[in-house]
Amino acid sequence: MNIEILAVGSELLSPFYLDTNSLYLTQRLNDLGFAVSRKTVVGDARDDIRSSIQSALDRAAYLFVTGGLGPTSDDVTREGCAEALGRTIVFHHGVLDKIETRFKRRGRVMPPSNAKQAEILEGAEVLNNDNGTAPGQWIPAGRTTVVLLPGPPHELKPIFEDSVWPRLAAHRAGYTARAILKTTGLNESEVETRIAALYPDRPDLRLTILASPGQIELHITAFSSHEESGARAAAGSLSDALLDRLGCFVFSTSGADLESVVGGLLRERHKTLATAESCTGGLLAERVTKISGSSEYFLEGFVTYHNTAKHERLGVPSELVQSRGAVSAEVAGAMAAGARERAGADFGLGITGIAGPTGGTVDKPVGLVYLACAFDGGVDVQKAIFLGDRQQVRFQSAQRALDMLRRNLLGLQAS
Ligand code: ATP
Ligand code: MG
Repeated sequence: MNIEILAVGSELLSPFYLDTNSLYLTQRLNDLGFAVSRKTVVGDARDDIRSSIQSALDRAAYLFVTGGLGPTSDDVTREGCAEALGRTIVFHHGVLDKIETRFKRRGRVMPPSNAKQAEILEGAEVLNNDNGTAPGQWIPAGRTTVVLLPGPPHELKPIFEDSVWPRLAAHRAGYTARAILKTTGLNESEVETRIAALYPDRPDLRLTILASPGQIELHITAFSSHEESGARAAAGSLSDALLDRLGCFVFSTSGADLESVVGGLLRERHKTLATAESCTGGLLAERVTKISGSSEYFLEGFVTYHNTAKHERLGVPSELVQSRGAVSAEVAGAMAAGARERAGADFGLGITGIAGPTGGTVDKPVGLVYLACAFDGGVDVQKAIFLGDRQQVRFQSAQRALDMLRRNLLGLQAS
């Protein structure tokens, strides 16, 4: 069975926007055992939309069209689709009532242009949109069913889940199960070497490595044509085998990010954290506080860029900075200990390094970073030389500091 996706929107043909809706739709269709055979992106021109839909009608059993259902004059998906199918557009009073009510609830009067969103193709079923004004439309058209969905992802996803998924699930082609292992502390080839023997050699089980500096992810996809439990079991046993090979380098099997995992450990153990950052400029604190509820364990973040700030805010001795340099194991340790003490926290994390691309020397090259974790009983310090651009060095620095804390909390050896 052919399934196609047509993403409508001139912005998707610019260098600034990605068609993420089709990625989402593809994932969910795969979950039902359906493959997507073609994706097309087209601008907001009615003729282009019409011809793209027309040519898909010859091939596809389902055609998902996203975007261009808004109230403005550049939103012409309805019109283009009506022309392609040779249907008229009818006005749906029930939909208009809903749109008007939506505006009223917010104390506003519906602008006349929004009435356009109550236009439905002849023969279409309305797919309710609780998160926006334009409903989706389910349009049986001969061998093809055309499904119109609004462009904003927070509108498209609930419509798909609530109204499209149940219709497709009735004749699903199979079951897909996924698992993700996230690791840090090993590079891609080290991960590869450890897991090489576990690469599955069968079409219904896939293992993909997604590598980025500081984080290697293993994505498992298992498929079963007849039972969900079969797919789950296959994904689960591969996941277990990988976990066995990678051990404590795996920080998450739930999809959670490292800051979320570390936050959970701090919360569980009723411990608190303060941070002292130089080259990361607050990235570590930003990641920690990105997690809702982090106020339970995060006390304070110091961004001490200048040497004077390291001394005045954190009590790092000026002589130490003079004698060892601001980028040194001693200063990283003193920063972590200073943050811990000044904030009255259980743990202090310190980062000092050279993020580059300028500022490196022969002795202290770009990417050299010292990381420290101060705790009740001492300070661990690590030296690292990270590769990559400024942002990648900063990310890896924050990642390593978080991992030092994770390992401390779990009583594991340093990586
Ligand atoms: P609206 O009522 O908001 O105008 P619409 O159905 O007309 O909705 P568009 O105007 O095409 O949709 O897009 C609205 C916004 O939705 C875009 O600015 C973009 O942020 C997002 N969007 C549209 N298409 C996609 C896509 N394929 N992938 C990801 N985001 C998209
Ligand atoms: Mg629009």
